[in-house]
Amino acid sequence: MFSTGHHRILSVLSRSGPRSRTDLARVLNLSKASVTALVRELIEQGILDERERVFGFGRPAIMLGLRQDAASFIGISLQSDPAQIVLTDALGQVHLRKSIPRLTDVDACLGVMIDAIEEIQSAYPMGIGVLAGIGIVIAGIVSRDRKVCLTSTSLGWKDVDIGQRLAALTGLPVFVENDANALIISEQLFGQSGGVSDFSLVFVGEGIGGAHIVDRRLHRGHHGGAGEMSHSPITLGEGASLCRCGNRGCLETVAALPAILGAARRAGLPGEMGKLLELAAEGQADAIAILRQAGTALGAALTQLIQFADPARIVVRLDPLLLQSTFSEALKQTVDTHLQRRKGYETELVLGALHSGDFATGAASLAAQEFLFGASFL
Ligand SMILES: [Zn+2]
Repeated sequence: MFSTGHHRILSVLSRSGPRSRTDLARVLNLSKASVTALVRELIEQGILDERERVFGFGRPAIMLGLRQDAASFIGISLQSDPAQIVLTDALGQVHLRKSIPRLTDVDACLGVMIDAIEEIQSAYPMGIGVLAGIGIVIAGIVSRDRKVCLTSTSLGWKDVDIGQRLAALTGLPVFVENDANALIISEQLFGQSGGVSDFSLVFVGEGIGGAHIVDRRLHRGHHGGAGEMSHSPITLGEGASLCRCGNRGCLETVAALPAILGAARRAGLPGEMGKLLELAAEGQADAIAILRQAGTALGAALTQLIQFADPARIVVRLDPLLLQSTFSEALKQTVDTHLQRRKGYETELVLGALHSGDFATGAASLAAQEFLFGASFL
């Protein structure tokens, strides 16, 4: 087991890469002797290793890094059908990945998960550390302790203690999280935003999910629903479409993938993203209008998010096809036009690809986060 001191060292090294003992002491405001003792223990446990020497003034500094084989983690995504399971190492690299059936009956779902975990354990790759935990991602709301799925419309679950039950069956720590929160934790741990203390992540899929890191911690909100952007009103009055939630004019009725493809079909265009984008690139007016409307709506929502929360960065994860498209151009244009920017205080907008496997990788990062950072970062 790690102490708070161990976790503090591991969190710095996993977020910002190898550092020297002197550097760690300075960043963590600890004495060099304390850092030396903590580092020795982590090296003895096979968690850290010594890297290259860096020559500067005085004695050359030995850099310390997190070992790739320090531990391994399993991630299971129930976010979409089929479910996915992955095995990752301590640096977030995926070593095994497979699809499994997504069953909504809880007992049957647990049975499939156990079979898949056992299968992975029987084919464990060489050079990967001991399995230290499991993460599960769902679309829905999760209890603050990350053990219970409070509600998930897509699974039809209410107050399902899936985390506790899988932990009892495997003897391993299990953490449950919603889709957007898992993506942002993965981005913080293994992505490009590890050193950013305040940032948001928004993804566009069947719905539109958002998550926020505030002062390096996940911001859940009072009821655990922070970041639920899909149902924020973006179109009011005439022309506001009915949403699956019962309200009209929600963001997802304009900007989520089913809304874009539904609008295309109603206009007599192909309901397939690749073909719609091709038509827009060829100058087809209706295709351009549909993509512009969706991108503009998301841009407006992001502008509001920036004005309300002032993150240093917003990471937008999209279908790879949408990255260089009329949709993305409209999104960026809307943010540029409507944002009251002060020089030197701009929020960086970073567009990146969202692949279906990213949720399972995000699930594994939940277990990695607990292993590296401990409960103090919840
Ligand atoms: Zn809605």
